[in-house]
Amino acid sequence: MWQQGARRIASRFGQRFSSASSTAGSNRHAAATVATASAVSGGLWFATRQQDSKVACDVDPVAIGAATLGGALLGAGASWKLMSGKLEAEKDRHSKYWPRKIIMLFGAPGTGKGTQGPKIVDELGLPQLSTGDMLRDAVAAGTPVGKKAKAVMESGGLVSDDIVIGIIADRITNADCSEGFILDGFPRTVQQAEELDKMLAAKGECVSLVMAFEVPDAVLEERICGRWLHKGSGRSYHVKFAPPKSMKLDSDGKPVPATMKDDETGEALMQRADDTAEALVKRLKGYHSQTTPILDRYRPKGVVKIIDGNRGIKEVSADVMKGLSSN
Ligand code: AMP
Repeated sequence: MWQQGARRIASRFGQRFSSASSTAGSNRHAAATVATASAVSGGLWFATRQQDSKVACDVDPVAIGAATLGGALLGAGASWKLMSGKLEAEKDRHSKYWPRKIIMLFGAPGTGKGTQGPKIVDELGLPQLSTGDMLRDAVAAGTPVGKKAKAVMESGGLVSDDIVIGIIADRITNADCSEGFILDGFPRTVQQAEELDKMLAAKGECVSLVMAFEVPDAVLEERICGRWLHKGSGRSYHVKFAPPKSMKLDSDGKPVPATMKDDETGEALMQRADDTAEALVKRLKGYHSQTTPILDRYRPKGVVKIIDGNRGIKEVSADVMKGLSSN
């Protein structure tokens, strides 16, 4: 009796395996399902074979269990290898024929690019390329680029187009950009956008999505001046909206710097040298005069999505995710 039931199940799993394996494509879940189904199918088949070969013997549940397990492991190994091969082939085909997904995060300082970017990174598995972070690293390392950029960055001005275009041109050739990348803080001038488009066009590529975060200027000063960052992870805190657990205030209600620590590592938080009210005035002026005209370049291509960034982080995230999938 049990053999007939087992055979039925084995054959059903087997059918599911062959239809799933032809459509699984790049879906890892499908691969895991197929491997499991095949394992069970293989195990049951193996067990029924074992039982058939000793018709006259009593049923030995331990032997059947061991045979089922052994068959399951063999089946799982073989089908996982098969599916891995298919996945690799699909991945190669994808990177050979499909254009890279190139997303641009657009918005004034403090509009949420740095907060929402990591969520897109998690969702799509593409790297976030922040020219601001790369320049700050160059300044910290004292490289020739860093030495040139330091003063202009601290005052809230823009680093020269040549420097940032060079940085991005190099960065997007890295292996982690093979499926695409997320630009954060670049381009910031029309000339940078033109150079970017030229670079991409030379490879038959173009910007796939521009996510433009909008927040009134009046809100940005409070966001920027209360911002504290954890350098290692990029985690962002705010004295009012998202304080670290360790924060203590002095008698004037201002945070005591020594108490500003990262929630996860306990390491010290830092404030950016340009996150001051004075520098922000210059940064916003530069944004409105030099950066916003870039949107006119991409709007006619139908790739611009406007995100109302003047809401809670979760609401903004929900819109960001919607914007990713409907593109
Ligand atoms: P961010 O972290 O994006 O706010 O950038 C910090 C600073 O780095 C800016 O205020 C500029 O001085 C400089 N910077 C970053 N990206 C660019 C860019 N694309 N063009 C010119 N300057 C930039």
